[in-house]
Amino acid sequence: MITPPKYTHDCEACKSLGQFEHEGAVHDLYWCGTHERGTVIARFGNDGPDYGSGLVFGERGVQPYKEALDRAISGGFYNPTKRPLHTIDAAQMRVAQAIGKVEGALVSPWLFRDEESELYAYLLQGRIDKCAADEEGRAEAAVYEAMMRYAEVSK
Ligand SMILES: [Zn+2]
Repeated sequence: MITPPKYTHDCEACKSLGQFEHEGAVHDLYWCGTHERGTVIARFGNDGPDYGSGLVFGERGVQPYKEALDRAISGGFYNPTKRPLHTIDAAQMRVAQAIGKVEGALVSPWLFRDEESELYAYLLQGRIDKCAADEEGRAEAAVYEAMMRYAEVSK
């Protein structure tokens, strides 16, 4: 049984996968995408940026993304073509999140002026396209995609 979402979430492409409690907080889980390609989302608050996403984290066993991925598969929203090769542990996950926050803080001054914001988006898209082309680069591409979304919500 899927419990209705607790928080406001405004993406029409997302399919709700119900609530999931992780480290003392309720997360609303979603699948966003097609059967072939997409991502898992875990929202933990009503504010726009109060969510995390990353199919690669789910594939590597990191909660709450693993739970979202399992539900997306069992609910028929996603057909994985490959099973995970490795897992990352909680310490590695914290490092990855910390790097993401630092990089986010670094780029925010760029976003005060439109030309720089556009240039930044262009450069990021180039990095995403380069990384997304191979399996090993997907985690890195996911970081850049998150930064792109960060840049968009910061405008
Ligand atoms: Zn969505």
